[in-house]
Amino acid sequence: MHLLDTLEHNLQVLDAQGLRRRRRVAQTPCAAHMTVDGREVTGFASNDYLGLAAHPLLAQALSEGVRRYGAGSGGSHLLGGHSQAHAQLEDDLASFAGGFVDAPRALYFSTGYMANLATLTALAGRGAAIFSDALNHASLIDGARLSRADVQIYPHADLTALGALLEASSATPKLIVSDTVFSMDGDVAPLAALLGLAEKHGAWLVLDDAHGFGVLGPQGRGALAQAALRSPHLVLIGTLGKAAGVSGAFVIAHQTVIEWLVQRARTYIFTTASVPAVTHAVSASLRLIGGAEGDQRRAHLQTLIERTRAMLRTTPWQPVDSHTAVQPLIIGSNEATLEVAGALDQAGLWVPAIRPPTVPVGTSRLRISLSAGHSHEDLDRLEAALGHVSLSRRAA
Ligand SMILES: *Cc1c(COP(=O)(O)O)cnc(C)c1O
Repeated sequence: MHLLDTLEHNLQVLDAQGLRRRRRVAQTPCAAHMTVDGREVTGFASNDYLGLAAHPLLAQALSEGVRRYGAGSGGSHLLGGHSQAHAQLEDDLASFAGGFVDAPRALYFSTGYMANLATLTALAGRGAAIFSDALNHASLIDGARLSRADVQIYPHADLTALGALLEASSATPKLIVSDTVFSMDGDVAPLAALLGLAEKHGAWLVLDDAHGFGVLGPQGRGALAQAALRSPHLVLIGTLGKAAGVSGAFVIAHQTVIEWLVQRARTYIFTTASVPAVTHAVSASLRLIGGAEGDQRRAHLQTLIERTRAMLRTTPWQPVDSHTAVQPLIIGSNEATLEVAGALDQAGLWVPAIRPPTVPVGTSRLRISLSAGHSHEDLDRLEAALGHVSLSRRAA
């Protein structure tokens, strides 16, 4: 069959299975209330957990950065594209979130996807072993595959299974790799126990704090700060397009690890350095996150989280036990999930339906993503709409 025919057929199969994804077009900035595809909606779809994406101070920092550094960086970091704005942000990040290791250093990447590919391919190779949680983010999965290390997947957060795999392995080095907050479940990995296993078995612990950074821990310093863990064998990755409201990602580790990444990480070396103004804006975001406004936003977010937890327990569906801003509601089949999401959409609520391969088959869900930009009135509307949908589905 001709490739075009094959693709057309495959797309029809996706349609039939309720797996075709469609993009919506936003006409206004990312916020709790926005215009999407020409309609005003209340959004529960973003990862803008602190409601900073449209913050005027960040827009101002971005334009100040453009005035200072222009538009493009002009080159890769090793060939002229590394600006004062990049260097400053790396210092800011190391002092803000590097408290878990002596001599911390940070490296800024254009995206979290690239940071994860970089870290796993630079630290592990043939002969190494990567122990990966079954629910890890796709970018960690791809990084592990690309590294050519022996990849061993342990059942989600199963410390006994992980301990047995580590015990049986003679590989060096060994890397345990996990999300801190799981992106489609919202639960937090057993960080202290993971570090305990790493130290016991001479392994490193690589954590992806995409959904924890800015939200968890004192001043939003992230999941490791919340758990108050310290070790030279920790590597922390965080993304800056979620709670930080801008774009990019960091890796923080002992300075020697970072220097090795600068020498070897292909997604750092063979790509144009990001727009310097963006990193200038991220530095401004760190000041917001770590200051009084950040504390207020986190406190408000926490009340929204607790209220949503209680509310989801009154629906006929299965909430996940999450204390973070990611509040999933498992519906089951793709069809039913799309129906519920469609009914919420009719009510002007944008709650994405998450389906395989992002989540396991049969666990399709609504992913309700909370933000400090939401008000209690927004949750009133979500509560009323969910109540309405569950009544009409019971009656059907
Ligand atoms: C979003 C996300 C990434 C990717 O980060 P980007 O900056 O969007 O590329 C990596 N890991 C996790 C857990 C994520 O949720």
